[in-house]
Amino acid sequence: TDTQTRTELDLSTSKRHYEAAQHRIPGGVNSPARAFKSVGGTPLFIDRAEGAYMTDVDGNRYIDYIGSWGPMLFGHAHPDVVRAVKEAADASTSFGAPTEIEIEVAELVCDLVPSVEKVRMVNSGTEATMSAARVARGYTGRDKIIKFAGNYHGHGDFFLIAAGSGPLSLGEPNSPGVTEGNAKDTLLARYNDAAHVRELAESYEDEVACIIVEPIAGNMGCIPPEPGFLEELRAICDEHGIVLIFDEVMTGFRVAPGGAQERYGVTPDMTTLGKIIGGGLPVGAYGGKKAIMDYVSPVGPVYQAGTLSGNPLAMRAGHAVLSKIATEKDDIYPQLERYSEALEEGTRQNLDALGLSYYTTRVGAMGSLFFSDERVTDLETAKACDTEAYADYFHAMLEEGVYLAPSQFEAYFFGTQHGEAELDKTLAAQRNALKRIH
Ligand code: PLP
Repeated sequence: TDTQTRTELDLSTSKRHYEAAQHRIPGGVNSPARAFKSVGGTPLFIDRAEGAYMTDVDGNRYIDYIGSWGPMLFGHAHPDVVRAVKEAADASTSFGAPTEIEIEVAELVCDLVPSVEKVRMVNSGTEATMSAARVARGYTGRDKIIKFAGNYHGHGDFFLIAAGSGPLSLGEPNSPGVTEGNAKDTLLARYNDAAHVRELAESYEDEVACIIVEPIAGNMGCIPPEPGFLEELRAICDEHGIVLIFDEVMTGFRVAPGGAQERYGVTPDMTTLGKIIGGGLPVGAYGGKKAIMDYVSPVGPVYQAGTLSGNPLAMRAGHAVLSKIATEKDDIYPQLERYSEALEEGTRQNLDALGLSYYTTRVGAMGSLFFSDERVTDLETAKACDTEAYADYFHAMLEEGVYLAPSQFEAYFFGTQHGEAELDKTLAAQRNALKRIH
């Protein structure tokens, strides 16, 4: 039964694959966060997934709280998305010429996301943030950017300074290969500390092109903005002629149809998007005010391009997801909120039952269980978590049939396919897992 403890997963095929993979792929993975480096053990090789469930190559089935690191708002293999991709493939996988579906996707993004008047499609979140920063620099004629310690904006050189996510969980927040020249243009601020940002903006008057921020931090675990933080950033940008960029690659369409900017009522100048916008295909996007976006080539002087940008398969998948959001948002987001509430409430009960007072956060369809008794509001407080206890919890949860992110410094995500049954199973698994490790 669900409350019975499942131990000793058979991971023999995953282990065999992992062994082989390491000979030809660095670390056996095509993205470091997938390796179980910070929790130990063998990364699961996945066979297939459907709805809220994922099945590994050994036939173990898990409730999935990674959702491909964010894209799967409607669960895996959603019929609308699968159909859209199949139909698109029949008409060729790429043209390198404009298509009608790109207009429809752009219109949906502009309708849903408050700050976006024009949008450019790219192939990943990394490309979106790199491009947005270049445009902000071109537009302002300034070089420096302000980023927050523990925020992750993909692997663009000037963002790999005190970066969250993989770099953080692997213990190397600054990457070799990033030149001093790049690093010197990145000013680091403390998350949730607007006074620090104000100091930086004042000491580098007329030098700062943009402030880029995860409006809800998701890459050092899920850390919501403190009341007033985003409003203060907006004010600082207005006072100093700085472009405010919300990196909503993770939060876009997840915490509200229009992302964190809709949820908190703070409108940035530019927004970067990814993950959900591509329905699981490789897509990113950046957009914002017309005046800024018209700095992008071919209308403007700032160059940015892509052989596969606006790819028809990706656009069809994205269109399926975004049009569903547009038409069903009044049902979708309250449903996600109810799940989020119930999950937190159940987690509190599980913790209370064991006399634990770990800190939890949640915003819409994302959240974190921090293995710390203190409030977590920035990188320093996140780092105070007991990462070894998290590693034990992670493995215990796997054995209980729940697939969490293999790092304390990643959020959990869920989607509309997570229902009553998944909630009950998750909380029972959590009860067992927490009991087993304490
Ligand atoms: N920005 C944020 C907030 C992210 O969470 C991520 C990825 O996790 C990125 C940017 C980079 O996106 P991608 O991995 O698609 O390059």
